[in-house]
Amino acid sequence: MAVTDAFRELYGYAPEGVWAAPGRVNLIGEYTDFNDGFVMPLALPHTAVAAVARRADGVLRVHSADVDQGVVELAVDELAPRSGSGWAVYPAGVVWALREAGHPVTGADIHLGSTVPTGAGLSSSAALEVVTALALNDLFGLGLGGDELAVLAQRAENAFAGVPCGIMDQMASACCTEGHALFLDTRDLTRRQVPFDLPAHDLQLLVVDTRVKHALGDGAYAQRRAGCEAGARALGVRTLREIPYAQLPDALGRLSDAVISREEHPGPQAEEIRRYVRHVVSDNHRVERTIALLDAGDLRAVGPVLTEGHASLRDDLRVSCTELDLVVATANAAGALGARMTGGGFGGSAVVLVEQDAADRVAKEVKDAFAAAGHTAPRIFPAVPSGGARRVR
Ligand code: ADP
Ligand code: MG
Repeated sequence: MAVTDAFRELYGYAPEGVWAAPGRVNLIGEYTDFNDGFVMPLALPHTAVAAVARRADGVLRVHSADVDQGVVELAVDELAPRSGSGWAVYPAGVVWALREAGHPVTGADIHLGSTVPTGAGLSSSAALEVVTALALNDLFGLGLGGDELAVLAQRAENAFAGVPCGIMDQMASACCTEGHALFLDTRDLTRRQVPFDLPAHDLQLLVVDTRVKHALGDGAYAQRRAGCEAGARALGVRTLREIPYAQLPDALGRLSDAVISREEHPGPQAEEIRRYVRHVVSDNHRVERTIALLDAGDLRAVGPVLTEGHASLRDDLRVSCTELDLVVATANAAGALGARMTGGGFGGSAVVLVEQDAADRVAKEVKDAFAAAGHTAPRIFPAVPSGGARRVR
């Protein structure tokens, strides 16, 4: 195995084992996880793979086959939040989070490589964190469950790497199972594996990586977050999750300028907050509708729900971009069952649900449309619902 050989070459001895953790794509439920809401990711066949051995001397060495940089050597008791930069913050952050939580991680040698596309909204960072967490959990006999590892991995990303992200990515990488989408209630991490056997239904879910990332996205997440929090305060609930879909019209009615104006300024304004609330409450409902359809085996009917979700992200949350809108419009015009942007938006990836025998044609039309518009050629591949983090040897 390539990572085993590379580990041996790098560190001069054999690793104790090899672990893998996947990237993910979110089927439905976007910008809901910081509102205690619902998400529904599936794991990709693309994984981060790590060969790892314990050390007892407080030294942490990490190396990536995919980065043109040598071994990064750190002292575990000197790891501090926001002190590092570069890719090593992800595995190092996990070691820090485990130690912070009182787990006796005394050092390690790690060599890893990944097939998860980076920066495409497919959670290559969570794959790195989760593969590291699972390897250390096994080697140091910590006995933590997938959800506990996911929470620690999220803490590594939030507090150590300084990236504000919800819990979806790490939970998906840690807890997904083959042939299923993971329904996750982010309020308490209760979850259910929902059958999503695309091949059995002659369907494909295409991931279209637009290869763009617009700078606009940087402040947008914080802005949406602040707006949702202001909306929850104005409605007298802890989070927008508490608003049932049936009460959405009433909630929107109550979000009058008068109510919002009691909120601190400057912040998101009333019209904006109403749009954000409408997106979050309706997207939670779209997750529930998707679960019902999948449970009923009506996978094709999920298509229009995806397209509806895209319209909500585009028009209400306003986190889409021309490239993502082009994917969705072109795919649907070419006969896809439905499509939407996935992840944080402003670039990154879209998902397209298609009949298996139409997949090549739809993919070609999307590529042609990108070429005609002068955009960078997108990367398109099928998302086969795959297993979560596991030991491979
Ligand atoms: P995403 O998680 O959506 O792919 P992020 O910006 O959150 O995007 O994470 C990407 C970062 O994760 C990269 O810039 C790099 O620091 C790190 N990373 C991902 N894969 C690898 C890898 N194979 N080797 C080293 N670092 C990686
Ligand atoms: Mg990430």
